[in-house]
Amino acid sequence: MAEQLSLFGAPAQGSAPSGEESAAAAPAAPGVPVAVTPVASEPVACYASVIVDIPARALSEPFAYAVPGSLADELEPGSTVLVTFGRRKALGYVAVLARDLADLPGADGLDPARVKPLESVLARPRCAPWAGEVAFWMSREYVAPLAECLRLFLPPGGTPRLVRASDGTYRVEEPAVPEVHERVVSLAPGAEAYEPPQRAVRQRQLLAALSCGPVTTRELAALHGDLSATVRALAKRGVVKVEERRAWRGAGDSTTLSSARAAAPAHLTAGQEAALAAIDEARQAERGDVVVVDGVTGSGKTEVYLSAIERVLAEGRSACVLVPEISLTAQTVGRFRSRFGETVAVFHSRLSAGERLDQWDMVRTGAARVVVGARSALFCPFRDLGIIIIDEEHEQSYKQGSSPRYHAREVAAEMARRLHVPLVLGSATPSAEALDRCWRGSVEGQRWQRVEMPERPAGSRLPSIVIADLRREFSHGSRSIFSRQLEEALLGVAERHEKAVLLHNRRGFAPFLMCRECGCVPTCRHCSTALTYHERTHTLECHTCGAVYHVRPYPAPGSACPKCGSRYLAKMGLGTQQVEDALRALLPEHVEVIRMDADSTRGKDGHRKLLEAFDAAESAVLLGTQMIAKGLDFPEVTLVGVVMADYALKMPDFRAGERAFDLLEQVAGRAGRGERPGEVIIQTYLPDDPVIRAVASHDRSIFTSHDRSQRADAGYPPFVRLSNITCWSASEGAAERYTADLARDLRRLVAATAPERLTTVPHAPAFRDEAAAAGSGSAGTARSLSLAGDPTVAPVVLGPTPCVIARAKDRYRFHIVIKSPLGYHISETIAAVLDAHPAPSGMSVSVDIDAYDLM
Ligand code: ADP
Ligand code: ZN
Ligand code: ZN
Repeated sequence: MAEQLSLFGAPAQGSAPSGEESAAAAPAAPGVPVAVTPVASEPVACYASVIVDIPARALSEPFAYAVPGSLADELEPGSTVLVTFGRRKALGYVAVLARDLADLPGADGLDPARVKPLESVLARPRCAPWAGEVAFWMSREYVAPLAECLRLFLPPGGTPRLVRASDGTYRVEEPAVPEVHERVVSLAPGAEAYEPPQRAVRQRQLLAALSCGPVTTRELAALHGDLSATVRALAKRGVVKVEERRAWRGAGDSTTLSSARAAAPAHLTAGQEAALAAIDEARQAERGDVVVVDGVTGSGKTEVYLSAIERVLAEGRSACVLVPEISLTAQTVGRFRSRFGETVAVFHSRLSAGERLDQWDMVRTGAARVVVGARSALFCPFRDLGIIIIDEEHEQSYKQGSSPRYHAREVAAEMARRLHVPLVLGSATPSAEALDRCWRGSVEGQRWQRVEMPERPAGSRLPSIVIADLRREFSHGSRSIFSRQLEEALLGVAERHEKAVLLHNRRGFAPFLMCRECGCVPTCRHCSTALTYHERTHTLECHTCGAVYHVRPYPAPGSACPKCGSRYLAKMGLGTQQVEDALRALLPEHVEVIRMDADSTRGKDGHRKLLEAFDAAESAVLLGTQMIAKGLDFPEVTLVGVVMADYALKMPDFRAGERAFDLLEQVAGRAGRGERPGEVIIQTYLPDDPVIRAVASHDRSIFTSHDRSQRADAGYPPFVRLSNITCWSASEGAAERYTADLARDLRRLVAATAPERLTTVPHAPAFRDEAAAAGSGSAGTARSLSLAGDPTVAPVVLGPTPCVIARAKDRYRFHIVIKSPLGYHISETIAAVLDAHPAPSGMSVSVDIDAYDLM
């Protein structure tokens, strides 16, 4: 009997793998009894590489199967097939087809005589033809089960299951979301000649309703009551015709927001023209080049996307637009729908199962040519994809938090390269990673280019920025939430009956200490990130390297700021509710206070309703968490306040500065989008922080040069890759021991293989010149990597240490942070160590390559 042969030289898996991982997610029907299948005597038409739908990390390779002549005609990349896998039957998806076995990627040295035949074809392709290839790349890149990566590309609604009928045949059980149909009534040819009888009021109504085009029976009923008898009567006479067609749920999400219906501007700005020219060039080059559209808020980036998409549609191709989940509001979607009408499909997390399936099918059938969605929209079955656009490229929501922990920017770049289509990354605050690649010019043959759009279209100016120094307020004896400046500005808005947006951001907040007199926040000596305060043990801890420092914060006697000696070194913390109360106490009755946070936006349309209330109000303050910072376009907002910038600045994370800068730029960008000028007031104890100085002076380089040299000094991305392995278990000792074992073996393997896994030598960092040009003091200093070597040369393994969230759901959490040189295949190293150390029962492990969340 033939065995199934894995490609890429992985050990062939004789049977289904054991262990928690596979048991938890086993899809098909483990243990389905299988009669021994004789090798088909039929001649082999070609060979297929097949991704077997069993999500276990051990199955990280596609398998080779022979295609019998009788199946060859119905087979395409993406087809669902039945295969024998070990001793059971399993679902599989065809990744690649090749006439000769040797032409399958990874098939070197396989013996055709030993390749098993495919059993049958179960379904036509339901995913994009490139799904298999991209899934395979993702599986390697992110150390994730191949089947799990491929499932991202399958129709929404759950994983297909293999079922065995009583007669022994197999079929795929489709997710149980039925399609819906609607009936459309239209005038039949020659209907004009028909003259309804004098008294036939209903007939006249119907003909009038149809005179502008086809109408669904549901719309007719809503407009005119029940006309079904009339429709039947006129259909019989051949005056109208009734057709049934597929109804697309989720296609008609309308909004009353005024700004959603903006028409195309008469003229593009110079920046917009330049961006479009670069995109055209990338499109014509057909290499999968990347264009970073670096435009200040309100500079018209969305308009650039719309124009670029128009050109792609004119070629008969389709477009994929990713926007952060948080800005997938009715307003954003409305702009795309008002330009491209019914050809727009939309994906966000608030869709029902039926809506999701229908939107997906709109793409598959070609009914939709533009997809606007959150990160998973990338996996749609596009027809002839012509462009990928990622708005707010720097946003963290593009990183998936559960396995496979991919970053949409990286997957999109890989897809662009494979499909030869341009990738457009838009941002007012591009990520350090994207900027770095633009500086390098090209990455593995893919060109990266940046186009600046430094100005808003005429008629709208950047707002003026005021920094309210809370240290000064404090030393003047004020204990109020609002500084004098912010209080006066809010009262001014009330008096002039205008609108304000007030940001109070506490996302992912980890408690820290801060001196109220000088603004000092204790940071780790080794990692230059803010230390997390642990109230129970009175310690400040670094959750990257494990350093622990003892402290006595205010009001304990003897508390002292390490910098100025003040006794007001105290814990930071202020709730949204407190701010809301203070706001209501301050403002006169006629000003509406609308609070928008995770609690107040529950429910399907919670978010939209609050925004519509804000839009409709005469005078109002919108108070909210970071969800109000992004994408809102209300021309009447004249004031933007930030209650406390320092929460964002002092997250225990090397990206804290980048995120804080983005947040402040974004929220500031909400002001002055209309005729009236805007004012922004930022409250902080840290007015000298480069982030604050950069925002205040509209000069990003103050922040980027500082941030870049700091990251280079401490060995962080974009100079290295940062991976995070987290292990958790009910037993603290077991979790710690297992994590320590992994760390030890990682160090060993890294020492043994460092040079051979380094495929490309990274360029010398360009930051020194940049930083020197910007006059940064620390530019030329030597690296202060005090812990263990230089991660730009060989990987450095840090830890294990307890996570910031040391215990969750009764599980103890430990992690290992790995910094590795660019071009080093760290995924391969990690996969090898995990293969050698299967997690014991009760232990969970997650691998996060290019990690964003280290908590
Ligand atoms: P961004 O996406 O960069 O924040 P938008 O595309 O939302 O910017 O544009 C901001 C505002 O400027 C919108 O109201 C938009 O309609 C308007 N706008 C964009 N481009 C132009 C232009 N060329 N001329 C006039 N107004 C424009
Ligand atoms: Zn540290
Ligand atoms: Zn101090």
